[in-house]
Amino acid sequence: MDQTTLTRPEAETTTAAKPVILTGDRTTGPLHIGHYAGSLKNRLALQDTHTQFLLLADTQALTDNAHDIGKVRRNVLEVACDYLAVGIDPAKTTICLQSHLPALAELSMLYLNFVTVARLERNPTIKDEIRARGFGRDIPAGFLCYPAAQAADITAFKATVVPVGEDQAPLIEQCNEIARRVNAAAGREVLPEAQALIPEAGRLPGIDGRAKMSKSGGNAIPLSASEDEISRAVRAMFTDPEHLRVEQPGRVEGNVVFAYLDAFDAAKEDVAELKDHYRRGGLGDTVLKRRLEDILQALLAPIRARRAEVASDPAQVHRIISEGTQAAREVTEATKREVMDALGLFRL
Ligand code: ATP
Ligand code: MG
Repeated sequence: MDQTTLTRPEAETTTAAKPVILTGDRTTGPLHIGHYAGSLKNRLALQDTHTQFLLLADTQALTDNAHDIGKVRRNVLEVACDYLAVGIDPAKTTICLQSHLPALAELSMLYLNFVTVARLERNPTIKDEIRARGFGRDIPAGFLCYPAAQAADITAFKATVVPVGEDQAPLIEQCNEIARRVNAAAGREVLPEAQALIPEAGRLPGIDGRAKMSKSGGNAIPLSASEDEISRAVRAMFTDPEHLRVEQPGRVEGNVVFAYLDAFDAAKEDVAELKDHYRRGGLGDTVLKRRLEDILQALLAPIRARRAEVASDPAQVHRIISEGTQAAREVTEATKREVMDALGLFRL
C-alpha cells in the first residue's frame, strides 16, 4: 500500500476553519453494508470539505457489552480497517479512540446533571434498543445514560454536522437539548448545536427481514464478506413468504431484496419497473436476487481487496489510531476546560 495515503499530516485536520463533523461506530463487530448506506457514504463524500473526526466508540460499546470486553477490544482494529477499506483517508479524517479521550468521560459526568432520568427513559431510540436487547428493568446505568455521553462526544469536538443512520435522530435531538441547557447555565453559547445528516435511504433492514441490519443482530452482510458469503446471504434473504410461484403477484413492502435494491442499485427507473412487475406477478425472486448479488459483489470486491491490504499491516493501523487520538485529545481537552470555566467551576 502507498504509505502516504495512510499517514496523517501534522494536526492539519484540527486547525482548518471548515465545519466540523463528529461521528463514529461502536466497536461491537465489523461494519456492514447498512453502515455503508447509512453513514459511511456520507462520511466519504464529506471528508474533503469538512474537518472530520471518526470515533471508535469502545466505551459506548461497553454499555451493553461489559460481559464481553474482549469483543469490544478486538473490534477497535476491525472497525478502523473497515474505515480505511472504504476510503476514509487519515490525511483528511481523524480516527480516534473514545476510551483514550478522558475529556469525553469528564464532560459526560457534567452533562448528566443537565438531563433527567425521565428524559433519558423517554428517548425513542433508547426505548427501542432496551426492548431489542431484552433488558427489562435490568438496564445497565451506562446504557441508559449513553445519550449524555454521546452529547459529550459531539460537543467536545464542537461538531455541527453528524452523519448518522435514521435511528440516531432522537439522540442528536437530546444532544442539542443538553447543549442548550449547558449554554443557558453558562449564560453564553459555549456549545454549538449539531445537525444530523441522514441519508434518504433510511435504515437498511437485516437479511432476515428484521427492521434493522445490526452488528449484534446476526443479520448483517459485513463489508469484509467473501464472494461466497455474499452469495449465501442473498440467497437466504427474506422476500415475500406468500410469493410461492413466479406468476403470483408479490409484495414489495417489507421485501428485503427491494429494500437493498433501493439502497444500492443506481438504476432507479429499472428498480421502479421491477417493483411494478413484481406486484403484477410474473417476476421471480431468483432474477431479483441475481441482480442484487451482482451489485453487492461489485460494491464489495474493491473494499474487500483494500481491506486485506490494510489488515496486513496492523501496526500501521494502530499508529493511525494512536496519532488520531493524540490530536483529538487536544481538541476535547480544550472544550472541556472551556465548558468548566463557562459554567463557573472552581479554577486551580
Ligand atoms: P450494534 O448492533 O452493536 O448497535 P449497529 O450495527 O447498530 O451495532 P452502530 O455502531 O450502533 O451499529 O451504528 C453506527 C452508525 O451506523 C449509526 O449512525 C447508525 O445509525 C448507522 N447504522 C447502523 N445500522 C444501520 C442500518 N441497518 N441502516 C442504516 N444505518 C445504520
Ligand atoms: Mg447500534
